[in-house]
Amino acid sequence: MTVSTTGGTKEFPCISCHTNCCKEYTIFVNAHDVYRLSIGLGVEPESFIEIYGAKDFDLGIKVKEGLVDLALKQKDGACGFLVGSGDIFRCTVNEFKPGVCKSYPFQIKNGRLAQMDSKMCPVDWDTKEFESMMAIHLKKDEAEWKFYDDLILEWNAKHWIKKPLSAFLKFIVDKVALSMPSDSSLV
Ligand code: SF4
Ligand code: SF4
Repeated sequence: MTVSTTGGTKEFPCISCHTNCCKEYTIFVNAHDVYRLSIGLGVEPESFIEIYGAKDFDLGIKVKEGLVDLALKQKDGACGFLVGSGDIFRCTVNEFKPGVCKSYPFQIKNGRLAQMDSKMCPVDWDTKEFESMMAIHLKKDEAEWKFYDDLILEWNAKHWIKKPLSAFLKFIVDKVALSMPSDSSLV
């Protein structure tokens, strides 16, 4: 059933949907996502990162383990950070969740905020309601992915296949930390 956010429903649509997107997608992450989760939760990236075979040869991370991309670990077929009780599910890292989670299911199309052409999200979102907030976020997210792509190219040029994933994770967390103004917040 399609639901409009302006259709008078009191409950936020993601609640009645039971956060299905967190159960269906593999969440690929960039350096800023890894940094925010690691620092915010006070844990090593290895505790929440899973590696997958790289989708793009040029931007795959070249480490001892192979040519890989980084994604969030999954548990029981859903994101490892999703917890459920009965029919109610919630993200346990809402404050530090990856950029892609913050912007789903929106994209910028022809310069305007639009809903992704995805069959997954059943809600017909009112994009005008979210335009100002999401446009800022999507721009920031795009810049963070570009930063990450540049880091991968730098890593691959210097360390092609010689070092393990743990060294790459430390490399990207250190690079993000160096790029941050000292008074910046995590989110
Ligand atoms: S964004 Fe869409 S698919 Fe994801 S939880 Fe909300 S309503 Fe469901
Ligand atoms: S980090 Fe949170 S919002 Fe993103 S997929 Fe996992 S549970 Fe869902």
